[in-house]
Amino acid sequence: MSRKPLWTLIIVPFILAVALIGGTVWHYGYRQALDRLERRGTADMSLVLGGLVSDLQRYRDQAVALAEHPTLTALSAVVTPHQMDRARTLLIAAADRTGATALYFVDASGNVLAGSQPRTPEGLAQSDYFTRAMDGALGTAHGIETATARRVFQFAAPSFGNDGRVQGALVALADAENVEFGWRGSQTAVFLVDNAGRVFMSNRSELLGWRGVPGDQVLIPPEGAPVGFARKKVGPHEIWQVDLGPYLPRRALRLGQDLPRIGMTGAALVDVAPARQIAALQAGAVVGALLFFGALLFLTQERRRSLARANARLEGRVAERTATLTQTNLALRREVRERQEAEAALKRAQAELVQAGKLRALGQMSAGISHELNQPLMAIRQFAANGGAFLQRKEPEKAAENLGRIDEMAHRMSRIIRNLRAFVRNENEPMGQVDIVHVINSALEMTGERLRGDGVDLVWQAPARPVWVRGGEVRLGQVMINLITNAADAMTDSAQKRLEISVEDGVQVTVRLRDTGPGIEEPEKIFDPFYSTKLVGADDGMGLGLSISYGLVQSFGGRISGANTGSGAEFTVALEPWADAAPRGAQREGAA
Ligand code: ADP
Repeated sequence: MSRKPLWTLIIVPFILAVALIGGTVWHYGYRQALDRLERRGTADMSLVLGGLVSDLQRYRDQAVALAEHPTLTALSAVVTPHQMDRARTLLIAAADRTGATALYFVDASGNVLAGSQPRTPEGLAQSDYFTRAMDGALGTAHGIETATARRVFQFAAPSFGNDGRVQGALVALADAENVEFGWRGSQTAVFLVDNAGRVFMSNRSELLGWRGVPGDQVLIPPEGAPVGFARKKVGPHEIWQVDLGPYLPRRALRLGQDLPRIGMTGAALVDVAPARQIAALQAGAVVGALLFFGALLFLTQERRRSLARANARLEGRVAERTATLTQTNLALRREVRERQEAEAALKRAQAELVQAGKLRALGQMSAGISHELNQPLMAIRQFAANGGAFLQRKEPEKAAENLGRIDEMAHRMSRIIRNLRAFVRNENEPMGQVDIVHVINSALEMTGERLRGDGVDLVWQAPARPVWVRGGEVRLGQVMINLITNAADAMTDSAQKRLEISVEDGVQVTVRLRDTGPGIEEPEKIFDPFYSTKLVGADDGMGLGLSISYGLVQSFGGRISGANTGSGAEFTVALEPWADAAPRGAQREGAA
């Protein structure tokens, strides 16, 4: 998957979902916080307004109580200055007790009979609250004194005469500022709105005198141009967005409470910043957590994906390598099989050639042997005839001599036959103590005919006593026959034909065969199998004689080598001497 679809398919929808959840959490959190804010604001406001109501109640109660005070009611009749003084003193003391601005006792026409202050209340006779008192009820009002510009609460309690008719009233004025004083500690901006929609009291002085127009999004200050404001509903809550100065919240929860007893509406503006902060915090935490886990999940997925990709790449590479290796393996196996087949074929060919070599040697030998056997046979016939003739002539000694010669001939023949048999069954011959002189003699016996036929001059001074070496008699015989035959072959066309054989007995026993042939053409190759300079196929070489001899001599722990002397070739066979003191005649095989 490429990067772009991943973004569009996963990340963008995820961020949108997170934004949606964040917005929902913010809204829900805001609503919750506003609920809490409203509860607290309402409690604050109730406390403030409750205080106000009880303050006003105090003035009201005082007015009612004083209205019936005899010192004051007496003022309706003829009054002495003394009575006037008493009445004034009473009113001053009463005003001091409650903190009222002024207390007056007036007659039914609104004329002040006695007052805690010299000033008379403005427009009293025409005021509603006084009229109400004259009607026998408690009259209350609030307003701004024109002379002092003070905001005052006004109360008028009727004073009844003995006849039960209203004869006057006790008028009490309370300064709103005094009442407000108790509100200052409140954190929440609380204000009282009168029936005209004007702020009459507040614990934020900058709000005083502001007027709202019902159904209009505008606030009118006591002086200056109206200020527009936004009113928004968040659930059941009303939020005002307005700039009313540095000490009032810009965005506030507006709370209201009707105060029918004083004919006004209490209101409060509670700063919603903490609610927004809490909501933002909650939304931020949720969004943060979602983003964190989303990022974690995304990274994990990415990591897993990249691991999977790497794995797939690796597996692909492994599969590729495996395929290559399998191919190589197959090729190798095929090669091995081919090599094995070639080796087997070679071995078969070698075995056949060795067999052919043996047969050839056997042929050569049998030619010599038949000649050898023929000679004694002819002699035996001759000696037998002679023996018969001597017996007829009654010469038994001579006949016995002839018989003795016949016996000698028969021995010679049986020796030749034994040699032949031994040559054929050489394979499993055990190693042991062998007299090399005897071996050479036997070999010469078998090749004697050939040498004599070729006119080879044999120089062989056999040591007088046996020279014992470690080896196999038949196989050593094979080696010697091969060396002698090779020398004879080499000297076929030589003018001088001499073969010298010698045995040296030392640390090693060394047999030397030196001929007067043309010498070796390639001395480093003569021991290689199938190396031959002779004509192949005919009676001549197969190139196996020396390689077989090499292997045989080595198997006895000896060494064979060939070199040129300048006047021919010399072959040396070094053998391990037999160390045992007692010679074992049993080891001798085919010995005459
Ligand atoms: P083959 O006699 O069948 O050729 P050999 O292994 O016996 O096999 O000899 C290998 C070759 O060594 C001969 O073909 C010949 O060239 C060389 N060789 C062996 N003996 C002699 C020697 N006495 N004089 C010269 N060359 C020799």
